Formats: sequence, C-alpha cells, structure tokens
Amino acid sequence: MKVTDYIKSAKQTLFSFEILPPLKGKSIQSIYDGIDPLMEFKPKFVNVTYHREEYIYKEKGNGLLEKVAIRKRPGTVGICAAIMNKYKVDAIPHLICGGFSKEETENALIDLQFLGIDNVLALRGDPIKTENIFKAHPKGHQFASDLIHQVNDMNHGKYCIDDIKMAPTDFCIGAAGYPEKHFEAMNLKTDLIHLKEKVDAGATYIVTQMFFDNKKYFDFVEACREFGINVPIIPGLKPIKTLNHITFLPKFFHIDYPEELSNELLKCKTNAEVEKVGIEWGIQQSKELMQKEVPCIHYYTMSNSDAVKAIAGNIF
Ligand code: FAD
Repeated sequence: MKVTDYIKSAKQTLFSFEILPPLKGKSIQSIYDGIDPLMEFKPKFVNVTYHREEYIYKEKGNGLLEKVAIRKRPGTVGICAAIMNKYKVDAIPHLICGGFSKEETENALIDLQFLGIDNVLALRGDPIKTENIFKAHPKGHQFASDLIHQVNDMNHGKYCIDDIKMAPTDFCIGAAGYPEKHFEAMNLKTDLIHLKEKVDAGATYIVTQMFFDNKKYFDFVEACREFGINVPIIPGLKPIKTLNHITFLPKFFHIDYPEELSNELLKCKTNAEVEKVGIEWGIQQSKELMQKEVPCIHYYTMSNSDAVKAIAGNIF
C-alpha cells in the first residue's frame, strides 16, 4: 500500500522507522534482530537505506597501492523483499542517483515492481568519500528531481526505450526535505525551490532529515506550505546514543543541537548517560509532534533499535 494512502486512512500519528543493510558478511538475522523489537508498535512501513560503493586503497605488497571499489552494505532490495515476506509490512527501498545510469535505474524499478514494492524514497545520494562534490553517472541523474521525473514517467508508461509499449508502474514516490536546509543549498529559500521541483516532478510525500528542535520542523512545514508544497511532511527523528554522536551527528548531517540539549550532553561522561539523555529528548520531541498531529514519526535506527524502542514505548 502507498505511504500516502496509509496517511490518508490513519486516525492518529503513524510509526515508521529506517534501517541500514548490515555490513557485508552479516546475515539477514541481524536485520530481523533490529526489526523484531519494534514490530509491537505496528509500523506501516520500514525504510531500507541504499549505500553506494566506496573506494579503498589496498597494499599490493610491492610498495604500491591499488584503488578498489567496495560496497560495504549491499542488499537493499533483497532486504526489502525479506521484510515484506516475514513481517507483512511495506518495505521502502531508498533509490539514489549516484552510481546509476538511467537504464540501471529503470531495471531496478522493474525488479521492485515485480517484488510488489509500492513505494520508493528517491534521493540524490551524497558525494562518495573520495570526491568533494557529487558527480552524477555520465548517463544518470544530477538531482533527485530528475530521478523522480524518471519514476513518474514510468508511472505513466514512459520508459527509457520509448519504442516499446510498456505497462505503467504505480510507485508512490517520497523525497527528502531539510528543516535546517541541505548543506549545499545557498539558503533555505533556494532549497525550498528545489524541494518544490521534486514535488512537481511527482513526489507525493516528504521525509525530513533528523532534527532536534521541533520548532525547526514546524517552521519548515509552514515555509513549505507558503511555497505551495502541500504534500505530507513526515518528521525524521534520531535518538542520540553515544559520546561519539555528540560531534558526529551535527558534522555528518549538518544539523544543530538546541542549547537545552547541548547543555545536557555536556554533562555526560559515558555512552549510557548520552543514551539516557537521547531517549528522554526523543520522548519529549515525539510527544509534541504527536500533539500537533503530524502524519507519522519516522525514526532513524542506524541499525540499533534499543533507543527507538524505549521512545516508541512511551509514545505509541
Ligand atoms: P537533491 O534534492 O537533488 O538536492 C541536493 C542539493 O542540490 C540541494 O542542496 C538542493 O537544494 C540542490 N538542488 C536540487 N535541485 C537543483 C537544481 N535543479 N539546481 C541546483 N541545485 C539543485 N543518502 C544515501 O546515499 N542513501 C540513502 O539511503 C539515503 N537516505 C536518506 C533519507 C532521508 C530521509 C534523507 C533526508 C537523506 C538521505 N540520504 C541518503 C542522504 C541524501 O542522499 C543526501 O542528503 C544528498 O546530499 C541529497 O539528497 P537529496 O535527494 O535531498 O538531493
């Protein structure tokens, strides 16, 4: 079922979460171990991220280094199929522009349709670690809006090879939104212009980047509405769990902690203390979002469901 249909028929705020494929070499059981504790909260859908290749340098033994491409977390599509089969919930694969030609994207979408997947979250992807700006595949897409156009074209029976009559797909397309603006955008206004382009291209719902200050989300939703972006905007929340997160999350995701939260984090000496603060903060954020009747709260588990379970147990 489509995310937008779940939202339309919901009587209260929905619960959903995102998982990462495990590192190469781990079994599907590691995915189930992360999902099992969260099923009691009846998620309507589970997102599975996509991770493209990285480059590493391998010693060749003669003093030379060899540049090798590796994908540390393959398996997005297979994991989606396994989740749908085991839990009977919708799984949403993340689809990215980076590393894909249009034809490869088309073929991936055909596979997804055959698997009965109704939703995709369409993203550009970040630059790979060895590049400081995003470089599109020579035959691929530069921006998420271009990818969304392609999925929407397929929803209208228009494929890359246009001399064959094709059955239209019927994907519900999600896009990413940034309450604190995307880090490359000149300002929030230009970012909203491009967000509107994604909606005009066919995205029918938005999932936000994590944020820790609900006001930023509420202001963002208001700004979107003023811009004529009228699709549901699902807030994304991430529980802070470790001492490392204190600096990693703002650096990696380009987000700020509100002062009240940073004051609490500064007092923490151990991961356990950080986790306690993160859970309490997540509960307060979730309670307020729920009171304001947001369509769904989407939790980023980053492959560890304990903190999300502790928050959801107080909310759902
Ligand atoms: P875009 O919408 O293409 O925007 C990228 C930048 O380009 C923005 O600054 C935007 O303002 C600008 N822009 C857009 N259109 C134009 C234009 N026409 N002209 C000029 N500038 C333009 N990454 C992964 O690799 N895998 C994942 O699974 C994944 N999941 C995510 C899930 C969520 C909910 C979110 C919020 C992010 C996720 N990301 C993921 C990260 C995402 O890929 C990065 O944030 C990426 O840098 C931007 O993706 P986007 O889809 O927002 O890109």
